[in-house]
Amino acid sequence: MGIKNRLKTGIQKNLNQKYIKRLLGIIATKPVLYAYGSTFPTISDKYLNIFTIESLKKAYSDNSHPVGYGSLFLPYEMFHALGITPFLPEVMAGFTAGLGLAPQTLKEASSNWYSQDLCTFHRSASGASELDVFPRPDFIITTNLACDAAQKSFYIHSVKYDIEKNFYLIDVPYRYSKESIRYLTAQIKNICMDICSKTGKKFDISMFKEVIDLSNEFRKWAIEVSILRKTLANYPPYYNGLNFILPFHGLAGTREAVILYKQIYKELKKYSSKEKKENSNKNKQVKRILWLHLKPYYRNEIFDILDRENCRVVFEEINHVYWPELDYEKPFESLAKKMLSHFLVGSIDNRINVILKAARDYRADGAILFSHWGCRQSNGGARIIKDSLKKLNIPTLVLDGDCVDQNNSSQGQVKTRLQGFIEILNSEPK
Ligand code: SF4
Repeated sequence: MGIKNRLKTGIQKNLNQKYIKRLLGIIATKPVLYAYGSTFPTISDKYLNIFTIESLKKAYSDNSHPVGYGSLFLPYEMFHALGITPFLPEVMAGFTAGLGLAPQTLKEASSNWYSQDLCTFHRSASGASELDVFPRPDFIITTNLACDAAQKSFYIHSVKYDIEKNFYLIDVPYRYSKESIRYLTAQIKNICMDICSKTGKKFDISMFKEVIDLSNEFRKWAIEVSILRKTLANYPPYYNGLNFILPFHGLAGTREAVILYKQIYKELKKYSSKEKKENSNKNKQVKRILWLHLKPYYRNEIFDILDRENCRVVFEEINHVYWPELDYEKPFESLAKKMLSHFLVGSIDNRINVILKAARDYRADGAILFSHWGCRQSNGGARIIKDSLKKLNIPTLVLDGDCVDQNNSSQGQVKTRLQGFIEILNSEPK
């Protein structure tokens, strides 16, 4: 049994915080970490895993750094500037799926009366929290941006840990306007100042500037990666753009995110040069897929089938760099603008414009929207998105399923619908 499977089995049998801490204590030591890292097919994959483990180890270590739970769409630069170690329960829920722990966490959530129509990212995370598997937070920050579930489940976490006074909800207005920027800037500033007064630290503007600089550097490389992908048809083994949620959000503003995205760029550049050199005729047959929303994080056949059928995911909606460069002279305002620039803020037209532009830029032959159970923001727009792409002659498959709960997704049905969609793509003239 390989090291990854041993880790998986170990944690399935011992789903408790003590075991996780012990495991992280062993695996996050340099020699083990680098030995573990060498089991990954690419350097970027290795960095992704190492940085994730290091960040988790910090969150689970009981000393010095305050831990902050954060929901996905926050500007994590504020965490890093305040010296708070971020812990993202929704991302962790993805891990529960990948590690085969979701049956246990979801069962625990059900036993505690979490509603079945709550998205399983939140349900699984809530189950893990009820099982005391997550580290104890000092602060909890969430937002109503896009996700209607986060504010409720995160509040419940704050009650559980008796830190309701350290629970912050960032209210993002519907429209991008000067008033909205002012309103949001004030909220972010107040939260930062309140956290500083509670941690007894002076607000460090130079630290904030450094974080903003790193965030801009990460943004630059993320854009370079996106540009490069416009022409690319081949990718390094097991490359999947849907794996980068933690660094794209939670590590924004860190050196790690810069290193990782620079490395992804390097690797993709190598593939691009190879493609150009070989002028690969076979690539002409590749069907280019635009992926919308997320993917199942448990073992599944979707990407193997696409690969076998010569279909490549050429871009993912979630990797769209939606925010302008941040201004380190105006850190709070910059973060407010970042939040307000998200394409899931406001009317569905904002999301559709991003999708249509990506469909054109990446010359998509088809789009797949993974319709995750319980996600109102994504599923609510599915029909309009499909109709809009149809106007560009791009067929869309709305694939019903669940990113976390394997039992809420019929693998057989997913396979049949995927194959039917591939037949449609193959019948369309290129
Ligand atoms: S999938 Fe939808 S409901 Fe679930 S966490 Fe993401 S945005 Fe929220």
